[in-house]
Amino acid sequence: MCRLALWLGRGGFFKKTIDNHTKITILITMQKILTNPTANAKINKSTKKGFWTFGIHLAPAKLSGFNVCAWASKGCADACLNTAGRGRMTAIQESRIKKTRWFYNERENFMLQLVKEIGNAIKLAVKKSQTPCFRLNLTSDLAWESQKFNGVKLMEIFPDVQFYDYTKSFKRMEKYLKGEFPKNYHLTFSRSESNAKETEKVLRLGGNVACVFRNELPKTWQGYKVINGDETDLRFLDDKNIIVGLVEKGLAKEDETGFVLECS
Ligand code: SF4
Repeated sequence: MCRLALWLGRGGFFKKTIDNHTKITILITMQKILTNPTANAKINKSTKKGFWTFGIHLAPAKLSGFNVCAWASKGCADACLNTAGRGRMTAIQESRIKKTRWFYNERENFMLQLVKEIGNAIKLAVKKSQTPCFRLNLTSDLAWESQKFNGVKLMEIFPDVQFYDYTKSFKRMEKYLKGEFPKNYHLTFSRSESNAKETEKVLRLGGNVACVFRNELPKTWQGYKVINGDETDLRFLDDKNIIVGLVEKGLAKEDETGFVLECS
């Protein structure tokens, strides 16, 4: 566990950085940011391998009035897993919208709470002999690599902990593949019906690409090996330069945009 996480646990970090205004605003806006590792069927599969994935569900696309998915396509927005499982409940949708607005309107307070929750999640996982990891874009595509708290980049605050995400941003993916990302942040590119050129470039640069397939997974796609991405969500354990195959789920079954690939 990183030293800062231990320090967080003792409250030293907060004693030194919280002012009264911040304390009051946190009390007004406070809600839990991170989901539990068992809250979502997909990330719950990580537990089989000894990992606990904690993540953030924001309100995707422009549902909150703020666009958290700048590179979304029509197909992915229509098929988004935002409404899967408990996401169907109005209270959950309202909570995601509130959380997203909190992120945009009170960034410093949001980050303070997030840092605190990550510190607590690490402690809890370690206590239960699990390895913690974090997927902050469960239903968003934000550049977490740039987010800072108190002038320090989030991922540098927790250098010994693994973060991972999927993205449709070629720019982010290119930076990642060039080694310009925090060492503890893994990215997988997401193919959609409108980013064929970018998908090809990512594969040529040696990156991994997630693709959604109709009914079943092929063995290869465009000459690249397809692995079963539904087995776990632990993308940072995947081999390099492969296709992460996902079988269509939920609203994706109705997709007619080309977001879901027809291979069988
Ligand atoms: S980019 Fe991801 S989170 Fe955003 S709308 Fe598309 S599938 Fe949903």
